[in-house]
Amino acid sequence: MVAASIALLVLGAIGAVKAGSAGASYMYDLEQVQPALATVAPAVRDPHTPRLAHRVFLVIIDGLRLDKSYELPFLDELRRRGVDTEATSHYPSWSRPNYVSILTGVPPSASGVRTNHHSTPVAIDSLMDRARAAGLTVATATDYDVLPGLFLRKRTAASAVHPEVARADDPLDDLDIDAMADPLSEAAVRAPDANLESPFNDARYAPWPGGFTEASTALAAGNADLVVLLFGAVDSAGHAHGGESPEYREATEIADRALARALGRVDLTQDAIVVTADHGHTKRGGHGGIEPEVLSVPLILAGAGVKPGTSANDARLIDIAPTVSALLGIPAPGHGLGRTLDDVLALDPADKIARDIADQQRLTMTRGVVAGAEARAATDLLENRAERIALVLGGAAFASVLAALLIRRRVLRLDVRVLLVSVPAFFIVYYALIGTLGQRFSPSLLPALGIIAVSMAKFGIAAMIVQLLASMAALRNQGTLGQRLAAANGIAWTGLMLAMIPAGLAWAFFPPPYVTLPSPVWLVVIPAVQVAVACAAIDVALTLMVEVIIFAARAWQRDTRPLDS
Ligand SMILES: [Zn+2]
Repeated sequence: MVAASIALLVLGAIGAVKAGSAGASYMYDLEQVQPALATVAPAVRDPHTPRLAHRVFLVIIDGLRLDKSYELPFLDELRRRGVDTEATSHYPSWSRPNYVSILTGVPPSASGVRTNHHSTPVAIDSLMDRARAAGLTVATATDYDVLPGLFLRKRTAASAVHPEVARADDPLDDLDIDAMADPLSEAAVRAPDANLESPFNDARYAPWPGGFTEASTALAAGNADLVVLLFGAVDSAGHAHGGESPEYREATEIADRALARALGRVDLTQDAIVVTADHGHTKRGGHGGIEPEVLSVPLILAGAGVKPGTSANDARLIDIAPTVSALLGIPAPGHGLGRTLDDVLALDPADKIARDIADQQRLTMTRGVVAGAEARAATDLLENRAERIALVLGGAAFASVLAALLIRRRVLRLDVRVLLVSVPAFFIVYYALIGTLGQRFSPSLLPALGIIAVSMAKFGIAAMIVQLLASMAALRNQGTLGQRLAAANGIAWTGLMLAMIPAGLAWAFFPPPYVTLPSPVWLVVIPAVQVAVACAAIDVALTLMVEVIIFAARAWQRDTRPLDS
């Protein structure tokens, strides 16, 4: 009987480790290092339209939701002089995925950058690549994140200071830009010698709002043709205090003042300013899902080449790269899935048509590549799905046969009353915590930046404690010691089955790699189930350990009592 307990214990431990590691790696599994688009040459089509703006300033205010972007003096002034419209961010509405949407015109589903944990450079054609190919210079200033690192390029012989060491065939797949940011890592130490170059001619990272203003002001006074500014304080305030907090409002005012200082002297008769955001924030703080307050972001355009008072219909973040390309008179990034927002541009009818044709030619190629990859992934998924389902159901059947044997030998007991009290306790508490504290099942459930599974593990631990106490209470009046341990085995077996079958089915239906993104609900449910298995398994182990100790202690007490008297 103790042996059966130990066997269940081991089974639980294996389940916990497997499920736990699946949950922990889940965010990384979502990433696609080599999305289909990165394997084909960009469809660069030059429509030969005139340059509408001498310089373009593309501003990303990280985490600025649409409704909170009004009543800010500088932004409102730009709106008054230009175009006041809005854009839709892309799911998963996290930062890195949507920096990529804005700068390449490729949404997270197709760029492979699905979370903020994407740490290899993105091999997708970008605005910076197009501008530099056209002989323009590109600069960036940020107080926040990894823009230059995210778009690192292999140095080519033509671009290298030392052409003899430049090899364009070096892979970038194993490069970890987050590790590189740590000055003590090996990658960072080797970085100066690495065969890499920034996509920007001038990249400035000043990690405080005042530094952002200084760096942006310097870039505005310079002569880079395309300047990308990324401001982070609004997003930080959203995460810390929520999207409707006074602190968030204050951060939007700081952003507005910083931009007024940096861009106040831009000559809008010659140059253009485009302001947008990568995503918004929920009331509680957080983003990643498809809530309107998370997906709706401002899109403000003003200056040379912009047709004041117009509006863009159904603009998406992926439309910004082709639109900025049109302002600069260069081809749009060639992997893009967006279109030029030509309604807001001062383009001649013939030039409008030329841009539309170039967009169509590009979209024919890029949409085809993406659709092909998704179709292949769907086929692969279906091909092995029956096998995976059979494996899961077979495993469950085997476990049931084993349980039946154990029941006959009275090692395992399925006492309905005991099970009713103890087993559901974990699941009720766990999912109720995610559902209430996490507001619905959405990737926006986390206010803080981080890994979904880690936060769920906290809910799991709370649920474990409740179930452990419930089990102890339910087992209290269980007749003999042997009966009590058998009932504990019953709790353990049922709990493991209830956790592992859904986890197995989740794996059968949604195995990595996630070429096609899981829907927002599944994006949360998959790690929720994995974490539930890990916690339930640990819980089983704890319950059994306590029971085995009680069993051993009482048995020892009973054996030793005659000697004492
Ligand atoms: Zn962001």
